[in-house]
Amino acid sequence: MGRRRRKVIRIPKKKLPRIFTCPGCGKQAVRVEISKEHTYAVVRCGSCGITDEFDIKPVFKEVDAYCLFIDRFYKSKEQLVK
Ligand SMILES: [Zn+2]
Repeated sequence: MGRRRRKVIRIPKKKLPRIFTCPGCGKQAVRVEISKEHTYAVVRCGSCGITDEFDIKPVFKEVDAYCLFIDRFYKSKEQLVK
């Protein structure tokens, strides 16, 4: 009986998620694009069409821009309620 070979599953570290959950429609359809100059980000939901564009810091990654987008989304919602 031969030993069972274990399959090594490697998870590539470089692959960061680029599709995020939308705070508006709840679907995983939000794309974050960062400008080449790393000065601003464009966030767009492919499902409900929410779009946002804002300035970012050069160190920001897609995830950071997404967090900012969420912040902005809820802040604008609060203002609407008031
Ligand atoms: Zn959406």
